[in-house]
Amino acid sequence: MSNSDVIIIGAGISGLSTAWWLAQQGVKVEVWESEPTIGGKIKTTTENGYLSESAAGLLVNFRPEIDRLIKHCGLTSAKQQRPDNLKRYVLHQGQLCSVPMTFAGIARSPLWSHRGKLRMLAEGLVFGRGDRGESVSQFIKRRFGPEMLDTAIDPFVSGTLASDPDLAEAASVLPRLKTLENRYGSITAGILVNKLWKRRRVNHADTFSFHGGMSQLIEAMAAAPGICIRRNVTIRQIEPDQNGWQVHAETPYGSLNQITRQLVMSTPANTSAQLLSEIDRELSQLLGSIEYAPIAVLHTGFDREQITHPLDGTGFLVAKRDRLNLNGNLWMSSLFPRRAPAGKTMLTSYLGGARNPGKLDLPDDKLITHGLGGLSRLLGIEDTPEYVRLDRHHKGLPLYHGQYQAKLHKINSHLSDYSGLHLCGNYAGGVSVRERIYQGKITARQIIQKLHAQGNNQSCTSQHKPVYATPARLL
Ligand SMILES: Cc1cc2nc3c(=O)[nH]c(=O)nc-3n(C[C@H](O)[C@H](O)[C@H](O)COP(=O)(O)OP(=O)(O)OC[C@H]3O[C@@H](n4cnc5c(N)ncnc54)[C@H](O)[C@@H]3O)c2cc1C
Repeated sequence: MSNSDVIIIGAGISGLSTAWWLAQQGVKVEVWESEPTIGGKIKTTTENGYLSESAAGLLVNFRPEIDRLIKHCGLTSAKQQRPDNLKRYVLHQGQLCSVPMTFAGIARSPLWSHRGKLRMLAEGLVFGRGDRGESVSQFIKRRFGPEMLDTAIDPFVSGTLASDPDLAEAASVLPRLKTLENRYGSITAGILVNKLWKRRRVNHADTFSFHGGMSQLIEAMAAAPGICIRRNVTIRQIEPDQNGWQVHAETPYGSLNQITRQLVMSTPANTSAQLLSEIDRELSQLLGSIEYAPIAVLHTGFDREQITHPLDGTGFLVAKRDRLNLNGNLWMSSLFPRRAPAGKTMLTSYLGGARNPGKLDLPDDKLITHGLGGLSRLLGIEDTPEYVRLDRHHKGLPLYHGQYQAKLHKINSHLSDYSGLHLCGNYAGGVSVRERIYQGKITARQIIQKLHAQGNNQSCTSQHKPVYATPARLL
């Protein structure tokens, strides 16, 4: 059995990010991926002049680390910036209403009653910090009142995270708001203080994609020197070993077995649960208990002239009480250039999620009809789409439901029993591409610390001696 320093299972953004940060420090790393393609959920498809994304379609960034990665990958000139002047819409009582982004805009907005606005203003006077594990609904109602929940937070949590605000844990889903409450006693006060002291973000928040779509980021990261990707390699079993971990995989050419000093599982929680079932039953059960929302992504291409709405925004989100068949709709051609042929436009709808998990049981034609139903009236669409593509994710996004931080805490304490085993997947630390890249960096730092502790010159396969950075150099 041959040996290696680091094997990462799964070439989604979580696994690739960990590999990329390690490679930057001279650590040679292998990524074993069961599919013939890399990127996991992230996949850009170009068909008939339409460019669509099966999962992440854009990156919202305020972390300098992500800027650095993009620059190192040579992608700065490939970035497509979201125009600043786009509105954000929410479906409110059957109509699309733009969401105000300033205090003055909130005061004038028809989205909230006078009473609702006064309640929101009173947020600074709310004392107390809520119970551990309180839900998003409880947290927002406690701080801002029910109208803020129904009109803004519910559509955001359901539409962008496919989650249910009544079940999702506030500390896991809205960590920055919880931090502001904990630190300043009030979210409004925290925002104002941070604005005044300009401490809020190192970077200005930046929303973008790439000319070649999100797959361009994946390919560029995977091409970093020091990363070896093995495709069509499905890990079937892992076992602790005196030198680290034995990894057993199936490939189209037979089995592949290797020992690694450090093993990263960047697979969905249920796969990691299966692989750990013989090693640690309780850890496996904790991982296996993480729920996922099924999501369908419906891409539709139209002649621009068939749509009467100005499409002057990023798209719209849907509040639960509006009972539309979709959770949100992104106007991809308004967001980024070249998503559709000249004179055409592409709209992407998201269906299912925790709100409507049964949607994914529908056959394609029914799902497409459901997706198009509400759109026609809201956007004034006069004809059927000339292009349709449907992507289904039966385990789309992990749901940070219940006492989620407590669950992660237990998972971490089990993990500390195993030297050289790391978990890095979107069920911990945030689902967005930004947070996945950031968590990859944290995992890389932990691995480098472990490799340091084990001694640099025990490297088994490296042709050149890796230069392990001290943790301080990484962060
Ligand atoms: C519909 C949708 C829209 C989204 N939109 C956005 C967005 O606009 N912006 C944003 O920032 N984020 C968005 N996200 C979130 C983001 O895309 C995901 O959280 C992220 O891509 C998940 O990456 P991952 O690497 O953790 O998991 P995955 O992408 O699931 O990767 C896991 C990998 O492990 C591999 N694997 C599994 N089992 C094995 C095995 N036994 N052996 C070897 N390999 C294995 C899989 O094939 C896969 O490649 C969206 C997600 C969805 C579903």
